[in-house]
Amino acid sequence: MSGPGRPFAEGERVMIVDRKKRHYLVTLAPGNQFHTHKGVVRHDDLIGLPEGSWVTSTRAERYVTLRPTLEDTILLMPRGAQVIYPKDLGAIVLLADIGPGVRVLESGVGSGALSIALLRAGADVTGYEIREDFANRARHNVEEFLGPAALDRYHVELRDCYEGIDGTVERVILDLPEPWQVVPHAERAMVTGGTLLAYTPSIVQAARTRERLAVGPWAECKTIEILHRSWHVEGDAVRPDHRMVAHTGFLTYARLIAGESVAGDAVAGDVSDGSAQPGSSPSAR
Ligand code: SAH
Repeated sequence: MSGPGRPFAEGERVMIVDRKKRHYLVTLAPGNQFHTHKGVVRHDDLIGLPEGSWVTSTRAERYVTLRPTLEDTILLMPRGAQVIYPKDLGAIVLLADIGPGVRVLESGVGSGALSIALLRAGADVTGYEIREDFANRARHNVEEFLGPAALDRYHVELRDCYEGIDGTVERVILDLPEPWQVVPHAERAMVTGGTLLAYTPSIVQAARTRERLAVGPWAECKTIEILHRSWHVEGDAVRPDHRMVAHTGFLTYARLIAGESVAGDAVAGDVSDGSAQPGSSPSAR
């Protein structure tokens, strides 16, 4: 062991894990108490304690204390809208190639789970959301989980994404019912080379989005789903868990390319498999 973890500070969020692997999130405040059915844990006992330490309740129950990961945070945070699950968030961050300073248009923002993942990866995020209560909750969750400085890179506007996108962006990431309605707006607002990604619970939504992408200047189109199966590992009993989250949503992805300006002069866009026919739509495969 290379040494104790960074001590917990007042105002920080700490995850407390009991023997049955149940997780609780507490925000540390002097004088406060965390009540369990096995007694009380005083926040004062947690403040200054190195991360990864054990703490004991007044009824001698022991708990592990950890800073929540981004995955823990998203699973434990207050939600109004259905959030995108961590397995899909991880894939979205890579597929859309999110990194520091990348300008993203995200719509709708819902509870802000996706926003948090994008901001944590360093993006500048403009969010379009039609419901004021969700816009406020998303801003609150971002501030709560990433700190007030993250709000400098997060601007949520109360507006309908089906009506258009203002300004110029590098990525368009959608979690709303009819993403195909946004594709023409993305064609105008996004730089070529930029990525559009739509998360849809239904494959019918994914297919309609693909149909609309196929008639525009898009390359590298694909639709995937992420399967995540946890395993039970105990002695010789090593097998997949009986239960899994079997379905969340599909990820449909495409990159904007320049339109064909000269008749017969094929876009050299489809470099992924080299099978595009001259003059055919690069995304119609
Ligand atoms: N990705 C979010 C959840 C989004 S839920 C998260 O991880 O937390 C879908 C959101 O889209 C809802 O908040 C809904 O109000 C919003 N929405 C639906 N249609 C919209 C539209 N046309 N323009 C903007 N937001 C829209």
